[in-house]
Amino acid sequence: MSGFARGPRSLRSRIAIWYTLLLLVTIAVVGIVLGVEARRVVLDGARAATDRVGSDIARIASNSETIGALGDALPADRELALPGNLERWSSPSTFVEIDNRDGYPLAKSSNMGAVAFSSASAPAKKGTSYSVEQTPLGPILVRAERLSLASGAGLVVKVGVRLDLYYATLDRLRTSLAIVLVVAAVAVVIASFALASSAIKPIDELSRKIGEIGADRLDRRVAWPQRDDEVGRLARSFDAMLARLEESFARERRFISDASHELKTPLTVINANAQLLERWGDRDPAIRSESLQAIVAESSALAVMVNGMLTLAKAESGDAIPRKPVALEEIVTEAVLAARGRAASKGLTLEAENRVPGGHAVVMGEPHLLRQAVTNLVDNALKFTERGRVSVALGIAGGAATLDVSDTGIGIDEGALAHIFDRFFRADASHSRAIEGQGLGLAIVRSIVRLHGGTVEAQRQATGGSRFRITLPLAAPSSSPSHDVSRAAE
Ligand code: ADP
Repeated sequence: MSGFARGPRSLRSRIAIWYTLLLLVTIAVVGIVLGVEARRVVLDGARAATDRVGSDIARIASNSETIGALGDALPADRELALPGNLERWSSPSTFVEIDNRDGYPLAKSSNMGAVAFSSASAPAKKGTSYSVEQTPLGPILVRAERLSLASGAGLVVKVGVRLDLYYATLDRLRTSLAIVLVVAAVAVVIASFALASSAIKPIDELSRKIGEIGADRLDRRVAWPQRDDEVGRLARSFDAMLARLEESFARERRFISDASHELKTPLTVINANAQLLERWGDRDPAIRSESLQAIVAESSALAVMVNGMLTLAKAESGDAIPRKPVALEEIVTEAVLAARGRAASKGLTLEAENRVPGGHAVVMGEPHLLRQAVTNLVDNALKFTERGRVSVALGIAGGAATLDVSDTGIGIDEGALAHIFDRFFRADASHSRAIEGQGLGLAIVRSIVRLHGGTVEAQRQATGGSRFRITLPLAAPSSSPSHDVSRAAE
C-alpha cells in the first residue's frame, strides 16, 4: 500500500476514505438497530413471562368454579390471599403480590420477604400496565392487572420477574455484537484500502506507460490489447490518438521538406539572374532583359506557390469556416466565365451543363473556397488538354451534389492516380512537357472538399482524358443562398 504515501489528494486515498466512511456509517447504523432490537426481544421475553402468570391468576380469580377447586368456597380475593396459595406461581425469579383495590397488599409470595411493589404501578382503571421497579431484589419488571370480581370486590394482581437475568443475556448479546462489528469495521478499512489500491493500479500503470512516451517517441504505443475494461479502452483511445499525432507530425515534416525543396528552385533561379544582372546588367541589355524576365516569372510562380500553401494551411487548419447556403450553379458559372479566355486562346471548347432537376443545388459552405476548388480543376483540365473540350457538369447523385470536370487531354497514368492529390505531386508527363505548376492545386481541392464534408475522386476516361468528381452534401431544403440564383448556370 505504498501508494497511500501520495497523500489525501490522491484518487486512491479519496476512494478508500469514502468507502471506509460509508461502510463504517452502515456498520454503526446496523449496530444501533440490532442493539435496540435485541433489547426489545429480551424485554418481550420478560413481559411474556409475567403475562403467563398474570393471566393464569386472573383466569382463576374470575372463575368461581376454579376457585372452588383451590380448596373451599371463599370469595376469590380471600382465597388468593390465603397464605401459601401464591407459592404455586412464584419461583426464584418470579414474584406475586395481590393488592386490594386501594393498592394495599393482601398477600405476597414468600420469596418477596419484606419487599412490596410500588402502589403507583397499578393501572387506574380496569386493565394491565407494565413498569420497571428498582427494588432491593434488583430491577424487576412488574405487570399489574386490575380485576373486578363477580362479588363486586376489586383486586390488583402484580406479577414481577427479575430483570437482571435478562439484562445479563442482553449484555452478552451486545458484547458479541460489538465484537463482530469492530472486526467488521477493521476488515472494512483494510478491504477499502486494498480495493482502492487494486482499482487504481491499472491507471497508475497506464500513466507510467504514457509518461514514457514523449514527443520524440510517437512511434511507441501503450499496447494493452488484453484489457477489455475502461482502462483498456482508455489505452486504445490513447494509442489511436498517438497514431493520429504521429501521422500528422510526419505530414507536417513532409510538407516542410517538400515546401523548402519546391521554394529552393525558383529562389535559386532568382538569385542566379540577380547575380547576372549585377555583373552584366549595365553592359549587356539582352542579358538585363532576360534576367529581369526570369526574375519576374520565378517570383510570380513563387507568389502563386506561397498563396497556394496559405490556402492549403487555412483549409487544413481545422478551424471552423463561416458557412452559408451556396448555390453551386453560380460557382460553376463564375469559374467557367473566368476560364473562358484561356480556353479560347488554346482553341478549346469550354462548356457548362446543369443536370440538377429544378436547376438549383445548394450546399452549406464558404463560396470563395468552393470557387477556388472548381477553378483549380478547370485550370488543370485546360492545362493538360491540347485539343478538344473541357466540360463542367453539375448534378445530383445519391442525395448529394456532384460536380464533374472532364477533359479530352493527356489523361492520368494508373500509377499516378493514387498520388495526384498529394502535396507537390506532379505526374511525369507534366514535368517532361514543362507545363507550369507546383503540385498544390489538387491537394488544395481535396482539403477544401473535405472541409465541406465531401469527397473528390479522379478517373482516367476510357476515351482518353480525365474526369474529376467532387461530391458535396446538399444543404437542408429550407436553406436558400443569400444571393440571386436566377442568373446561375447557363
Ligand atoms: P499542378 O497542376 O500544379 O502540377 P496539381 O496538384 O493541380 O498540380 O496536379 C497534380 C498533378 O496531377 C499534375 O501535375 C498532373 O500530373 C496531374 N493532373 C491534374 N489534373 C490533370 C488533368 N486534368 N489531366 C491530366 N493530369 C492531371
